[in-house]
Amino acid sequence: MLHEKDIRKIRADFPILSQKIYDRELIYFDNAATTQKPEIVVKKIENGYFRYNANIHRGVHYLSQMATDAHEDARQTVANFIKADKKEDIIFTRGTTEAINLVAFSFGEAFCWAGDEIVLSVMEHHSNIVPWQMLCKRKAMKLRVIPIDENGKLYLDEYEAMLNERTKLIAITHVSNVLGTINPVEQIIEIAHRHDIPVLVDGAQAVPHIAVDVKKLDADFYVFSGHKVYGPTGVGVLYGKEKWLERMPPYQGGGEMIATVSFEKTTYNELPFKFEAGTPDYIGSVAFAEALEYVEKIGIKSIADYENRLTEYALERLKIIRNIRIIGNTGQRTSVLSFMIGDIHPYDIGILLDKLGIAVRTGHHCAQPLMDYFNIPGTVRTSFAFYNTKEEIDTFVAALQKVVDMLL
Ligand code: PLP
Repeated sequence: MLHEKDIRKIRADFPILSQKIYDRELIYFDNAATTQKPEIVVKKIENGYFRYNANIHRGVHYLSQMATDAHEDARQTVANFIKADKKEDIIFTRGTTEAINLVAFSFGEAFCWAGDEIVLSVMEHHSNIVPWQMLCKRKAMKLRVIPIDENGKLYLDEYEAMLNERTKLIAITHVSNVLGTINPVEQIIEIAHRHDIPVLVDGAQAVPHIAVDVKKLDADFYVFSGHKVYGPTGVGVLYGKEKWLERMPPYQGGGEMIATVSFEKTTYNELPFKFEAGTPDYIGSVAFAEALEYVEKIGIKSIADYENRLTEYALERLKIIRNIRIIGNTGQRTSVLSFMIGDIHPYDIGILLDKLGIAVRTGHHCAQPLMDYFNIPGTVRTSFAFYNTKEEIDTFVAALQKVVDMLL
């Protein structure tokens, strides 16, 4: 269990947190957009460029072998973190978005035809909508959307009723980036598998906050981004079951992903390299693995427990704000909180909070269909990480009170 004194020590690992903005202590509550980086992660990047920078896989020389080993060790660390069977099931991408585009293109090429259907939910991030829409356009297919109730809970019976012989894949978020809702993905996958339909889980907002075991979930594909879990930008993960990845064509062509090339015919490399065309971000992957090890050292269960206590505290404290409406209340949630206050535009609240040193996100959070569903222009969103504190929440609530008094 994490205590105040542990948090003080943890905060010292994140140099960015101890700075002042507008002459005030920075309060960073925008962790769902991206998390801050501990010093060891940034040092790992520096060390990579200063000590062993050389292109990987192709070199026989010392530095190239060092870089290759570091990159492949990083792949193993990722596999261990999400409890994948083997490192070959891990494909490095630029992030969640690229991982979903990869599957939408490649799975679409192999398994989807005119009239087929993809099922997703109303609470998806645009990253888990648009690539499927593009596939639907390309192949004359249809999107089906699982509805939610006013608390942000998926209607599972409607979901199951939607499945039929034309359903090719379910693409569902593990945790909503707007509502914080933890969806019952294990149950969703179990239902899909009863109909022999594979499931892609968008884990961008889950991996930083809750323990993820892709084997236990039985997910066919699981995707997430390094920068949301204290790692660098530009690195992410596609986990896929071998039985699917083997049968899917490459997403991009180029170096690394080939076995042989002639002008008559190209044969493709084995997994995972078939899906990693070009020079990968081998410095980033190693720093990403360092971030996962950092999280592991603190313990994802302790992180979840601490963040839950913070969120409960914030929910309680926010009750003093007049006309506040929390969007999404399912009980099962992470540390993302979205709200509206009366008819004040979220943007105005965000701008004024910023001037008081508090970083929150405002707007549609790349989930416009969800905003349409709730019939709102956007929300103010706070999202806590394990380096945030109750004192910061107190300062934030006092600042919000001030802002509301000005605007309401
Ligand atoms: N999916 C969810 C649920 C997200 O919250 C995000 C980012 O906010 C993404 C996908 C896209 O992640 P990235 O921009 O790192 O590719």
